[in-house]
This record gives sequence, structure tokens and C-alpha cells, in this order.
Amino acid sequence: PQTTALVLKQIMQDTRDILKENQATQIRIEETSAEITQIKEELEAVKASAEKDSLTGLKNRGAFDKKIEEIVYSQKEPNTTLIMLDIDHFKRVNDSFGHLVGDRVIRYVSALLNQIIGPDHHIARYGGEEFAIILTGLSVMDAKQLTEKTRVAMCNSKLQRKDSRETIGKVTLSAGIATLKPDDSVDSFIERADEALYKAKETGRNKVIISA
Ligand code: GH3
Ligand code: MG
Ligand code: MG
Repeated sequence: PQTTALVLKQIMQDTRDILKENQATQIRIEETSAEITQIKEELEAVKASAEKDSLTGLKNRGAFDKKIEEIVYSQKEPNTTLIMLDIDHFKRVNDSFGHLVGDRVIRYVSALLNQIIGPDHHIARYGGEEFAIILTGLSVMDAKQLTEKTRVAMCNSKLQRKDSRETIGKVTLSAGIATLKPDDSVDSFIERADEALYKAKETGRNKVIISA
């Protein structure tokens, strides 16, 4: 009987040890999973900042290149359009008012695009004072309407310098729009939008042209 009691005591001790160990393991698992969640969040933040244009907060050129590649070489959505949009005679703004005022104008256009086109679409700063916007799930007529709305809003904006209230005068936008075709490559898609933008410039600026 004495040995039975002893064995029983030992079993109870072992059971307690196992439970304790299980508890410790459980805590370690919880800690690890919290760490993984935190790392994931940090990775997302790093990714977002790597895709951001620092002047405007829009997507940057790298993000645009990735996105357009994805769109052109994946299942082609029927309603995909590309808008190339450029500030007219921007060199004059820089030359007359300086680079810092020029930067503010670029930011102003970015804010308009964000406001009018919104977060559902991919709005990027393509280069200096040029923007590339990928719209999905909208007809080309809807794309045109949004672009016109942006153009008109810009054209009607009375920009003035914050410091001196000196007027900057009318700053206008030109844009070209292309619709994605089934046999498009990235280059052919961009080229069509570019050609339409070039035509808008050539025929007087302050206008939106849809590629044939
Ligand atoms: P167009 O109507 O044909 O587009 O004429 P433009 O003067 O806008 O075109 P151009 O390409 O000749 O000039 C663009 C200018 O934009 C030249 C460059 O100095 C300026 N620029 C490019 N990036 C920036 C920037 O980040 N900030 C400022 N302030 N200016 C920039
Ligand atoms: Mg320009
Ligand atoms: Mg340009």
C-alpha cells in the first residue's frame, strides 16, 4: 500500500509538471503569434511607404510599373483604362514663381485627383509633373467624365501664393485616355494613352482626348 501511495504521488506530480509545461507552451505560442502579427503589420507599413511618392503621397512610379504589369498580364478585365495626365506649361510656373511653388502646384493637382477619382483606383505620379491613373471597372466614358471633372476643377482654380497672395494665374491640365485591349502589352497600352496626351497638347492643351 505504501508503494501504491508513492506511485500515485509520483503520477500526480508528473501530471502537475505536464500541465505546467503545457501552460508555458501555450504562453509561448501566444507570444510568438503576437510577434508574427506585429511583423506582418510592420511589413505592410514598409511596403506602403516603398510604394509612395514622397512629394504627393500618391503611388510612385515603381508601384505603377508593378500594377500595370499585373493588369496587362493577368486576366484582362474588360473595363480597364489608363489616363496619362500632364500639367500644361509647367516650366513657366517654375520659371516665374520658383520650384517650391511648382511643388505646391503638383501637390494641388494630386489632391484634386485623390478627391475626384478616389481611393478605388491606382493614382500614381509617373514623373515630374505627369500622372498615370489606372481605372478598373469603369467604362471609357466614365473615365473621360472623371478626367474632365478634374480638368475643369483645375482650370477654375484660382491659385495664389500663400505668402504674398500674388496670383499664380490659370494652370491647366491635358490628358490622354486609352482602353486596354486583349492583345495589349504594357508598352502598347501606355503608348496609346501617351499618343492621346500628345494630341491634347498639340491641339491646344487644357483638354482630354480618348485614344482611337
Ligand atoms: P507642356 O505643356 O508641353 O507639358 O509644357 P511643360 O512646360 O509642362 O513641359 P516640360 O516637360 O517642358 O516641363 C516640365 C517641367 O517640370 C520641367 C521640370 O523642371 C519641371 N519639374 C519636373 N519635376 C518637378 C518637381 O518635382 N517639382 C517642380 N517644381 N518642377 C518639376
Ligand atoms: Mg507639362
Ligand atoms: Mg511632362
